[in-house]
Amino acid sequence: MPRYCQRQIFAIVVARKWADNLAFLFMDFLLSIHCPQCGADISFEEESRVVRCQYCGSTLHITGRSGVFRNYVKPFENIPRMKKALRGALKALGAKKALISEKKLLFAPYWRVKGMVYKWVFGKDVQGRLVKELKTKHLDQSFPAYCGVDLGLRSLGIRPGALKLPFFDREEMSKTGSVMKVELDFKEAVKQGSLLTEVGLDETDIQVYLERTRLVGERYNIIYFPFWMVRLSSGRKPRVLILDAVANTVTRVLTEEQWEVMEARSKKGRSRVNISKVGFIAFKCPNCGWDLPLNRFDVIHLCGTCKRAWIEQGGRFKGVRFEIADLPQGARQDVIYLPVWVFQAHITSNGQVLKTVADLQRFSKVLPSGVKQGGDQERFYFFMPAAKIRNILAADKLAAGLTNKQPAYQCVPAERIAELKTMGVFLSPRAAGDMAEILLCSLTPRNNRERQDFVKDAKISIDKMHVLWWPFHEQRLFLRDAICGCGIQKGTLDVGC
Ligand SMILES: [Zn+2]
Ligand SMILES: [Zn+2]
Repeated sequence: MPRYCQRQIFAIVVARKWADNLAFLFMDFLLSIHCPQCGADISFEEESRVVRCQYCGSTLHITGRSGVFRNYVKPFENIPRMKKALRGALKALGAKKALISEKKLLFAPYWRVKGMVYKWVFGKDVQGRLVKELKTKHLDQSFPAYCGVDLGLRSLGIRPGALKLPFFDREEMSKTGSVMKVELDFKEAVKQGSLLTEVGLDETDIQVYLERTRLVGERYNIIYFPFWMVRLSSGRKPRVLILDAVANTVTRVLTEEQWEVMEARSKKGRSRVNISKVGFIAFKCPNCGWDLPLNRFDVIHLCGTCKRAWIEQGGRFKGVRFEIADLPQGARQDVIYLPVWVFQAHITSNGQVLKTVADLQRFSKVLPSGVKQGGDQERFYFFMPAAKIRNILAADKLAAGLTNKQPAYQCVPAERIAELKTMGVFLSPRAAGDMAEILLCSLTPRNNRERQDFVKDAKISIDKMHVLWWPFHEQRLFLRDAICGCGIQKGTLDVGC
């Protein structure tokens, strides 16, 4: 168990409470927006980078994804259900009749954090055996961004997959309800999010010596959820009922005073959040003007005409350096190329430096494998598989395998890219860089405290990142790397579309 101070423990308990209550609240959903070309409604998966309007046929790249998006859930009014819910609430209050004296709709903001959590643990188990373990989980949690109110939301009550979430539009939302203010700013949301990363990855019977938890590829968004506020006058005791405006069920029953206190507090929002506006750019090669190939989830877009690679950054395409590793002499020619982010890392810890191929060999204590390497005194590279790989442990093993071997390779001319069988790049360069620390733990020996101490205080700066397409042979259920022999199960790779 890591050491926490009293306040942190309290915060974790609160975070846990939210995690239990709101688990799977928003899941994966479709975002919807008007096509900038023809105005028709287009919906797309939130992981999409490229969308195609099925009405006018335009293909567009989404921009602004690196910032905070705001979306909202539309209310779904089901009068019979709502009446039933109100009758039930009245019965529980012991009132026979009541008049609805006020009914209004509120849009309450929730922060939603999504990402992949990696946690490395080094230590000893109860039998005294050394432990080196990587745990992972998908983080997808939400918590209120408003304060002073508990609207009692527990779950959506309908299949989340069916939800289409339009982008925030104050004018449109104000036609039906009032928009509550955001009180929890981005910094506080990140703090709350980092507490949620720990939930469910506890160590119960391991005496921990070193642990590293990292949230990778994280995205913070705000989603406004609709509630009905219904004021009932029933004789002596007027009540305010809060209803989930999608499921049409009562979530809270409040006294008049409780409601007034809550309402007054919720109006004090500070709203200090920089919101990123969703935008679109034409999905054409900025160099030659030809259409780029439509692969919805790809981060890197390869122009088949001028053979250049592009990534969207800050609303425009920027060129990305890429290489294609050549096959060893005499190797089978039927290969599939998997993308790998390759970058140099400069790692320091307590005055020690991990920089060259020789440093890395000393550090990881992996015996030479016979694979041809770069010179001892050359800088070493991290190799981070960038295809969509469902099995995180398998991806980590492949990353550690390639990085340990530091293979030397020749390149084939970039022009040949169009004739090769390549898989798309799914991992963003930022996420690849964030994983450097996780990969350093993978390379750390289980039985070496000195190396683990080095990792504890390690500071990593990364440099010179590029994409490398690396050849693999199909071998029954596996893909076997044609240069160093590292493998990965075929079934764990998402070929995408
Ligand atoms: Zn259109
Ligand atoms: Zn081009």
